[in-house]
Amino acid sequence: MSFTLAIVGRPNVGKSTLFNRLVGKKLALVDDQPGVTRDLREGEARLADLRFTAIDTAGLEDATDDSLEGRMRRLTERAVDMADVCLFMIDARQGVTPIDMMFAEILRKRSAHVILAANKGEGSAADAGVIEAYSLGLGEPVRLSAEHGEGLNDLYTHLMPLADEFAKRASDISPDTDVDLDEDDWDESEVRKPTSSRPLQIAVVGRPNAGKSTLINKILGEDRLLTGPEAGITRDAISLQIDWHGTPTRIFDTAGMRKKAKVQGKLEKLSVSDGLRAVKFAEVVVVLLDAAIPFEQQDLRIADLAEREGRAVVVAVNKWDIEDEKQQKLRDLKESFERLLPQLRGAPLITVSAKTGRGLDRLHDAIMRAYDVWNRRVTTANLNRWLTGMLEQHPPPAPQGKRIKLRYMTQAKTRPPGFVVMCSHPDKIPESYSRYLVNGLRVDFDMPGTPIRLFMRGQN
Ligand code: GDP
Ligand code: GDP
Repeated sequence: MSFTLAIVGRPNVGKSTLFNRLVGKKLALVDDQPGVTRDLREGEARLADLRFTAIDTAGLEDATDDSLEGRMRRLTERAVDMADVCLFMIDARQGVTPIDMMFAEILRKRSAHVILAANKGEGSAADAGVIEAYSLGLGEPVRLSAEHGEGLNDLYTHLMPLADEFAKRASDISPDTDVDLDEDDWDESEVRKPTSSRPLQIAVVGRPNAGKSTLINKILGEDRLLTGPEAGITRDAISLQIDWHGTPTRIFDTAGMRKKAKVQGKLEKLSVSDGLRAVKFAEVVVVLLDAAIPFEQQDLRIADLAEREGRAVVVAVNKWDIEDEKQQKLRDLKESFERLLPQLRGAPLITVSAKTGRGLDRLHDAIMRAYDVWNRRVTTANLNRWLTGMLEQHPPPAPQGKRIKLRYMTQAKTRPPGFVVMCSHPDKIPESYSRYLVNGLRVDFDMPGTPIRLFMRGQN
């Protein structure tokens, strides 16, 4: 069972760019079908393991006359009526415009399932617009760069629970039951809270032979994947859904792609891009190290990547069963971790044996805790009380004798936690001061190991 996604929004925000990315080359014009004009394009889209029909509402670019607004409204309404889910796109570089507000109003009235996307989200020029998007009242925006293919992971995590729900509904309905699949069937809160029916998504990444397949097998409790002493024995990258200690969990396994890479003699390079794929679709990334050769260049790269992608990270050191000097080794590991991955300060480091299963309970707990921290929300009142203390303890610098004022702060997002600080001269705040605040947030609000984003925003 698949579903239909309409991409709507004013001209030039990047709808077609996203459509083309999702659909690739296999697109069809909808106007083959009776009653539909050539303003709508339709194509079979894919996003990771999701398959659905995408509708693009481009085709208004030429309409520069004053009937534009009316046409846009009619076109959007038609697309919305054809679709199960609407992806409403704004241009994060421009922020929210009056036409965007008009769209938001149509969508609030007409569509039960709206995903808000702030496109052109690459780079800091989009920060303010992404935050402004919250004001549309359609929940947390997905920060996208259709052009660069960024943020598709977040789009996926918003779409997946809906896709699952549609699939479930389809299988619940037998052909001879008369069921009205109307908007009224839907609980609106689902769209706003995409976490409700979604399994926890984890990826196990690491160097070839670190023991990824062995670990996943052990978690699965059955020999569903192939393992072996040789790199690249498993089949292609896949995701598996399991019930791990009562938590519905989807595990991305990347081992398979190595096989191809090995054949082509590009093992190192492809292992990284392979890991990248998994990282993009995960909420929690387990970086699996081999205790005999921990923190190799490749491990550091993938851990850093996970941080930059804003994933919660758990470091697991495998093959602990063959270590002799466990105490000393653990001290060394912790020291290396702090020195080599300061950006992941406080992330859990768990020793495991994928082979014997030792430590897997602790790994599970660490993953759940990391996920929890990643979702943490701090109240505005607490944040501002905290900010006052931080400013007193260590005031911001005063370039050319003028002190930078940090006035107010709020948490703009979770997954990972992101905070906005309203201040004078945001561009003059040194990196070291931002780091001071981030480290303070981490310690004082108990958010170890999760990437923390801090946005400085000017206020006149
Ligand atoms: P549509 O009218 O909404 O379908 O918009 P298009 O897909 O035609 O895109 C409009 C313009 O924005 C084009 O020049 C795209 O190359 C550009 N664009 C689309 N997505 C992005 C993005 O993520 N970042 C940036 N910087 N430009 C984008
Ligand atoms: P992958 O390439 O990361 O998927 O690694 P595999 O799961 O294929 O494991 C590579 C090799 O390490 C195999 O020979 C495994 O039997 C071995 N191995 C994996 N985990 C452990 C462990 O916890 N202890 C020991 N002693 N060997 C392990």
